[in-house]
Amino acid sequence: MTDSKNNAGIGQQRSHYCGQVALPEVDSEVSLFGWVDRRRDHGGVIFIDLRDREGIVQVVFDPDAGEHFALADKVRSEYVLHVQGVVRARSADTINADMATGEIEVYARAVDILNQAETPPFQLDEFTDVGEDVRLKYRYLDLRRNDMQQKLRLRSQVSANIRRFLDANGFLDIETPILTRATPEGARDYLVPSRTHEGNFFALPQSPQLFKQLLMVSGFDRYYQIAKCFRDEDLRADRQPEFTQIDIETTFMSESEIMTMTEQLVTELFAEVLGVTFESFPTMPYAEAMRDYGSDKPDLRIPLKLVDVNDLMASVEFKVFNGPANDPDGRVAALKVPGGSAISRKDIDGYTKFVSIYGAKGLAWVKVNDRAAGLEGLQSPILKFMPDETVMALMDRLEAADGDIIFFGADKTTVVNEALGALRCKLGEDLNLYTCEWAPLWVVDFPMFEKNDKGQWTALHHPFTAPSCSPEALEKDPGSALSQAYDMVLNGTELGGGSIRIHRADMQSAVFRLLSISAEEAQEKFGFLLDALKYGAPPHGGLAFGLDRLVMLMSGASSIRDVIAFPKTQSAACVMTEAPGAVDNQQLRELNIKLRQIEAPPQSD
Ligand code: ASP
Repeated sequence: MTDSKNNAGIGQQRSHYCGQVALPEVDSEVSLFGWVDRRRDHGGVIFIDLRDREGIVQVVFDPDAGEHFALADKVRSEYVLHVQGVVRARSADTINADMATGEIEVYARAVDILNQAETPPFQLDEFTDVGEDVRLKYRYLDLRRNDMQQKLRLRSQVSANIRRFLDANGFLDIETPILTRATPEGARDYLVPSRTHEGNFFALPQSPQLFKQLLMVSGFDRYYQIAKCFRDEDLRADRQPEFTQIDIETTFMSESEIMTMTEQLVTELFAEVLGVTFESFPTMPYAEAMRDYGSDKPDLRIPLKLVDVNDLMASVEFKVFNGPANDPDGRVAALKVPGGSAISRKDIDGYTKFVSIYGAKGLAWVKVNDRAAGLEGLQSPILKFMPDETVMALMDRLEAADGDIIFFGADKTTVVNEALGALRCKLGEDLNLYTCEWAPLWVVDFPMFEKNDKGQWTALHHPFTAPSCSPEALEKDPGSALSQAYDMVLNGTELGGGSIRIHRADMQSAVFRLLSISAEEAQEKFGFLLDALKYGAPPHGGLAFGLDRLVMLMSGASSIRDVIAFPKTQSAACVMTEAPGAVDNQQLRELNIKLRQIEAPPQSD
């Protein structure tokens, strides 16, 4: 027996993890290490639930244990103990079916308190509705909770499984630099000032894209890396400034060969880790995904589709509809929800507010109460603006039936797609319309370019993606050029994406030109790539999976923060370490950096 000041228990080997003690161990001596999950005093007998990463076991102390009983009496939640004792079967009436070790308990002979613990800021042994900021500040405690332990273990299993697959298929794990130059993936760079090159900066990689391509030029043929990527984005939705990709690149494989191989990787992963069987993934062109689902990552678990009604609305007097219907960049689309006529006015107001997040100015709707009764059977604030024949043609096109509600989007195409696409997913969730648990697919035939707000072409994937046409055809009509890019989508989430790359310098230069990157700028930023393409670059392509999102989906977590050990908050900070933090003047001087005066925030009074 010892108290907390020394580590006397250490060195006496652990015989089992707490969660692994079971019936076969009855009557044998065990030596366990763990944390006190709970301690209960049952009138002269002390019960301690001892916890480690494998689970919990009940340890019993009775007064026969003498001084050890007295020590057990002192322990509190989260104390660290070494316990020695004998396993005994629980009597039938004390078996706990909810506990993996519920058929046994450990009758303690000795206990060492290896360390004490202050009362934790939140309870760990049961669900408590504690704010995420507190969980993140004390992340090391949050991670003790079973739920978090399971998620990070699943993550480890997933990456081990993927490594095994890639190793077995001849992929080489090669590391690429973290201190590097900008790799454009559409976000801002995280910059690191160089001390030795005054006034110059490294950029943290937004992805290992260019290095993996260069490894293909070097002839490694098959590369992978579980790589950290850094993107300084305004943290919309569920993004992290640093995240992990399973990054893959190969030579001499076609788009469909790469898709087949990576589909096999994901199929085997789900089968082995979750016991889920996937059929072969359907493939959907980007244009179809946008038309039918308003999204390039459609959630195919939801059996609702957008239906174009531009032609029907082009001549109605209702401006809200005829404007977009006659605008080449506009769209009028309908979304029919069977059984949705039960949605209340209040909920419709809620959905109207929801679509306004995506820029929609309103949400028109029609309830079909009695289709056979014609106009009389329809209920809607907008039908009075339309000729009867148009209303009837609309009902026919949508194959409307009693009990349906039909929502409309009318605006610029991008707004309609985003708003109705998001509404479709929200309705799927709210009304539980899912027809299956998992719906994977490939989205292909992406456009090469899209126009930004300033009317300039930008790469939809990244500027190294190969088009499906010649450089001449590309320059002639960049707007209709398609790329050899492919995204793997699961349940409305993009799991990964990649492409066949440009491996010829003339094509790469053409793409840079179209992206308004001058020859000088291209040389300055990507000269090393353009040079490499001149020295026998083989045809190559690859893909990257987002490990965080993959594990989030597989574990049923609702945020990627729950599958990252130490994530950042929505404002890209770490509340535990308080990073980012100020640095002292000496460090700034060494970097030759002078901070501008930061204006104090206005005083409220
Ligand atoms: N580098 C790409 C990305 O981060 C993936 C790829 O094209 O392989 O999205």
